[in-house]
Amino acid sequence: MNANLYFDQIDFYAYLPKKDCLECGYTCKEFAEIIKKGKRIENCPYLTQKEVEYLNLAIEARDFLKAPMYPSTIKTKTGLVFSNEKAVTIVTANYPYTQAVIAEVLVRAKIDFNMLVIDTEGYSVDMAVYLGLFNAERLREQMEELEKVDRKKIIIPGLAKNAKKEIEDLIGSAILGPICCAELPIFLLKMGLLR
Ligand code: SF4
Repeated sequence: MNANLYFDQIDFYAYLPKKDCLECGYTCKEFAEIIKKGKRIENCPYLTQKEVEYLNLAIEARDFLKAPMYPSTIKTKTGLVFSNEKAVTIVTANYPYTQAVIAEVLVRAKIDFNMLVIDTEGYSVDMAVYLGLFNAERLREQMEELEKVDRKKIIIPGLAKNAKKEIEDLIGSAILGPICCAELPIFLLKMGLLR
């Protein structure tokens, strides 16, 4: 059995141009509903090639992005998996399957990234949020690692929105990312974080 990766939480409409030109055969809102069901984007004159690529990656992620539903915790090491100081830094849980799905989607998108793994006691992000383990205190343990990365490009999981303020107070800034990691490439592109 596979874990819930929250594909239904992707708001494709937010990334469409909202021009309602009907080139795709639908209005933007109708098209968003259709691609949510798995149809690839072929022709939209207002989207860049990169936007189409990353939207199609999110659309197809259901087919390649899987993590098993594991009945227990599994702890990985905490700390920074470092690529370079200009890259975005994805803050996540010390649970291997969470890290694996993030890496899978960003590697497929050919996006450079750092990953900062905090101690969530081996729980995935959703469970860690539910148990109150994804918080500024857990990030405080990684302050030394945070010195190595661009503080303006720290991405926290969308599910951790209640911890955003306390994390910002601690480290200066934090960007609330998407709930579904398949949305990360198009989200990072639209936020201008891939320059
Ligand atoms: S082609 Fe693009 S801009 Fe035009 S209606 Fe479809 S999604 Fe919207």
